Amino acid sequence: MPRMSTILAYSGAVGFAISQSIYSYAVSSRFNMQLPELDRIAVVLIVQVIPVALLLAVRAATGSRRRLFDASVFAMSAVMVLLQIYMVALKGLSSPSRMAAIVAVAVTGVAVVYAARAHVQSYVVMLGVTSLVMPTYFLVADTATAVIATAARSATVDARQGPTNTVFVLVFDELSLEILLDPSHTRIDATRFPNFARFAAESVWLRNARADYLQTNVSLRSVFTGTYERVDAKGRTFDIEDLPPPNLFSELASNGYRVSFYSRYIGCRGAQYNCLRYSETAPEVLYRFANFQIGRYVPPSFRAIAARPDLREAQLLENLGRGEFARAGQAIIVHVLATHYPYVVSRAGAVVTSTDTAFEFLNPGDPPEKFAADADRIKSKYVGEVEYVDARFGMFVDDLKRTGNWDHATVVVTADHGTCWVPSCAGRNHIVVPVPSLLRVPLFIRTAGMKPRISDAAYRHVDFFATMLDALGLPSRASDGVSMMMVQ
Ligand SMILES: [Zn+2]
Repeated sequence: MPRMSTILAYSGAVGFAISQSIYSYAVSSRFNMQLPELDRIAVVLIVQVIPVALLLAVRAATGSRRRLFDASVFAMSAVMVLLQIYMVALKGLSSPSRMAAIVAVAVTGVAVVYAARAHVQSYVVMLGVTSLVMPTYFLVADTATAVIATAARSATVDARQGPTNTVFVLVFDELSLEILLDPSHTRIDATRFPNFARFAAESVWLRNARADYLQTNVSLRSVFTGTYERVDAKGRTFDIEDLPPPNLFSELASNGYRVSFYSRYIGCRGAQYNCLRYSETAPEVLYRFANFQIGRYVPPSFRAIAARPDLREAQLLENLGRGEFARAGQAIIVHVLATHYPYVVSRAGAVVTSTDTAFEFLNPGDPPEKFAADADRIKSKYVGEVEYVDARFGMFVDDLKRTGNWDHATVVVTADHGTCWVPSCAGRNHIVVPVPSLLRVPLFIRTAGMKPRISDAAYRHVDFFATMLDALGLPSRASDGVSMMMVQ
């Protein structure tokens, strides 16, 4: 049995090192699992206790090398804390400077622990006494603000006069329309993607829909605001609350909708809108802590471990069609990365952690021979992952129908851009020729009372904002686009 001071030292070090995961769990236990408060507290504590117990067990087995093990754990914890602090700053950096920053942070962390090695045990013991500070703070802070049904604060519409429909906008990242089409190139492939095909037949399908931009952040900004790019936002994500009004979010909120947003890529501070997150079980949090959080800083071939968030994200779709989400007056906007490379989830939902992802991670200037042979295999993996997502989407629609919420649901499915499988366009990394599959996006709009049809109108994504306001019967606002709802 380790001494009390050792337990405290490890609790402190680990508690702060994994505070990001603890935060994620504190939030998701409320949003997605809807656990009672006492269960949430217990669960968050367990998330912290398990790694401590595991580390102490390993420590007990290290025998005479315990001091070295202690030093490694404390150094690693220091690095994790520093990394979390620097995470925000790292976001905007290019990968060489990011790697340099990470190395600098790591070296600093190790150096700090080494310099203070004589005292580190006693300092960390003091830290241990405060090890409950972070979980307590997260639980308390989350309780105060993060309630799923909170209306956008600017919206003061009487509930009785609020919207009577529910809005779902599902943006599947990198979902090319061409991957969904059957060999005739005019219909959705009902064999491979039965749920998208069924949904297309119940919607207004804008078959010629094209994205205006190839980068996620630029395209989504244009989709949500209906304006062409005016500032160079390359390489930078944004927070939806920073979008200039009028935009899709502000219009939905000011017309009385309770607006919720989910994305792992676009920021959501949660001041004006609800920010959704997918749920994770405690073992998943630990798995992600050990793999994803560390894995994102290792060479690309290891990034396949990002599969777990993709899986959970696809499963999030299953939860949207029932309960609170589907009630009238909710507007749920979801940006899903599960259809984006690396394609590491199989059709059956297994995690495919092969490392043949070279195609997606080519560098500009790499010779075409390097990836030509992989293109077909990557494409088939992409199809498999989209098949998996299709099944999840089907469950979402079925839930809406089963619960009677379909009758008042407006469901929109689209993508920010497509992708391609030719050497000039591998993984969208160094595009020479913008092939059609890059720009063609699905766009299905289903709303009660609107007759399903196929439109070959010359829709561009800058028209999304105006088209959505029109489809929802909301007042139109000035933008660079026009509504394509009624255009044949
Ligand atoms: Zn994208």
